[in-house]
Amino acid sequence: MTETTTDQPSPDPPAPGGDGPGDRAPGAARVRGLGTTIFAEMSVRAVHHGAVNLGQGFPDTDGPDEVVEAAVDALRSGDHNQYPPGAGVPELRRAIARHQDRFHGLQVDPDTEVLVTTGATEGVAAALLGLVDPGDEVVALDPYYDSYTAGIQLAGGVRVPVTLAPPDFAFDPVRLEAAVTPRTRLLLLNSPHNPTGTVLSRDDLAAVAAVAIANDLVVVTDEVYEHLVYDDAEHVPIAGLPGMAERTVTISSAGKTFALTGWKIGWAIAPEPLLAAVRSAKQFLTYVSGGPFQPAIAHALDLPDAYFDNLRSTMEARRDRLADGLDALGFEVAIPAGGYFVSTDIRPLGFDDGMQFCLDLPEHVGVAAIPHQAFWDDPAMGRRLVRWSFAKQESVLDAGLERLQRLDAMPRG
Ligand code: PMP
Ligand code: GLN
Repeated sequence: MTETTTDQPSPDPPAPGGDGPGDRAPGAARVRGLGTTIFAEMSVRAVHHGAVNLGQGFPDTDGPDEVVEAAVDALRSGDHNQYPPGAGVPELRRAIARHQDRFHGLQVDPDTEVLVTTGATEGVAAALLGLVDPGDEVVALDPYYDSYTAGIQLAGGVRVPVTLAPPDFAFDPVRLEAAVTPRTRLLLLNSPHNPTGTVLSRDDLAAVAAVAIANDLVVVTDEVYEHLVYDDAEHVPIAGLPGMAERTVTISSAGKTFALTGWKIGWAIAPEPLLAAVRSAKQFLTYVSGGPFQPAIAHALDLPDAYFDNLRSTMEARRDRLADGLDALGFEVAIPAGGYFVSTDIRPLGFDDGMQFCLDLPEHVGVAAIPHQAFWDDPAMGRRLVRWSFAKQESVLDAGLERLQRLDAMPRG
């Protein structure tokens, strides 16, 4: 991915570079080039310039009161302030299993097939560390969420991209088949997909499943946006396809579904032998995760359907508001079928470098966004694309769009 290395916000864009002072950098090879995440980088700039932050994907409203109260009760009860069990508190594991059944018709054993993690980020990292040997190839949808690049590198794996090409970012099974070699160990999926908003259809997933089964591959699937699908798109967990449960690690998290990204409660679901490998890595990364938040998320997962329906319709309306506004400003907009983000091509407005555009935007226009370049195997593929989050209140989206009227004043690179 593209390196972004500034620690301090600066009106001057940072020079592209490595981790620090060249050869004297103390970092090990496994972290070399990882730099600072683009999300942190752009959020720092947003704060520094008082910008409307449409960059980093986090909601600007709190999660449901009753879930927050459940965490307060757990804190006060004194029963959840010490290390929880390694796999997660039983009531949360049971709630995760009920959720899989209720929304996806999948039966999983909460005692042997569910592992609570410190967000999906740790779930993905632990899956990669637990399942990939140095030199193994990991085939992943390109562009990728940035922690995948890092996780594959930490595990010593080799990243092999399957491109979701602009302008529609559609999945092409022919590209997947071409990417698999005898050295492929694992397929890393993400649907709904960050940053493109692509939702893999049942047919797409059947094609992935056929490749996984034919080549005896493990599939790790990141489904953190599972409740955020729009129009007539449907979220289909690949673990439910014939022959897939036994080879799939499904990862999700409470952050996006309940607007509680700071609690960092996620989970991995897999058959026992695969989960054991994930658990082996997880237990030495964090040992256990967020005690008092676990019973609260158990409560959240059991919220009535109305909560999930409302989340979806609210986010769909926000997607439309942001997409329409960006379209009216003259961007070429790709309408996402799921997730938190709209992607735009910036060329119609006379820009051609998304990184420069996003570095200049907070200072000149008072808005923050994320350059696609940070997500692509070949940054040139994402050069003209910029990602905007609609996980924001409507007034904030409107304020961001209003400020974007000032784009005329921004330097064209
Ligand atoms: N996967 C994807 C695709 C994401 O967009 C994000 C960021 N929200 C994560 C994982 C991280 O999830 P968590 O905050 O639960 O670690
Ligand atoms: N997933 C969020 C995004 O894509 C950010 C989370 C993070 O900053 N690591 O914007």
